[in-house]
Amino acid sequence: MLPPIEDLEERVAEMFVRWRVPPGDKVTVTWNSRLRSTAGRAFYRDGRIELNPELLERSPDHVDTVLVHEAAHVAAHRLFGAHCPAHGRHWRGLMRLAGLPPDVTHQLPVPRKARSSRRERIYLRVCDACGDRRIARTVRYDECRCGARERFLVMRAPATSGGLDALRNIALAEVRERCAVNRAAQ
Ligand SMILES: [Zn+2]
Ligand SMILES: [Zn+2]
Repeated sequence: MLPPIEDLEERVAEMFVRWRVPPGDKVTVTWNSRLRSTAGRAFYRDGRIELNPELLERSPDHVDTVLVHEAAHVAAHRLFGAHCPAHGRHWRGLMRLAGLPPDVTHQLPVPRKARSSRRERIYLRVCDACGDRRIARTVRYDECRCGARERFLVMRAPATSGGLDALRNIALAEVRERCAVNRAAQ
């Protein structure tokens, strides 16, 4: 069962207090059943967060992480301005303050049988500037070999052969879609 919108909006308001976002327009949260592989997205200027009801109904334990992830985008925009990179150090700092791992952007769903019972994970790091891909057990946010900074998109999967295949085969367009923040709305 999906949590009521009021609870989600209250959670965002609490996080904004913790992040010391100056009082401003209320952030609204809506369920958007037209979202396909995107778990959530943020419209910075409108202060609006959309969540995917179908995906999150299947993984209710991800609702909070996705919500806080998107809320941190709106907060970073209000605190640090329009040009702060989507998953850059400002956003990661807010995720850390929220007690959530900043290196995890979006869990890649893989078939249940491929899931490991242990909590080992592997990560695909893609540079949004040059497309350089790395798969590893940890994510480093250093400079890409193309010279770009703060442009990494990160996907996570269980450390199984199924998870590895999923990360190897995922297309750049899908990584971008899953890690989408609505830049057009900035
Ligand atoms: Zn690069
Ligand atoms: Zn994001």
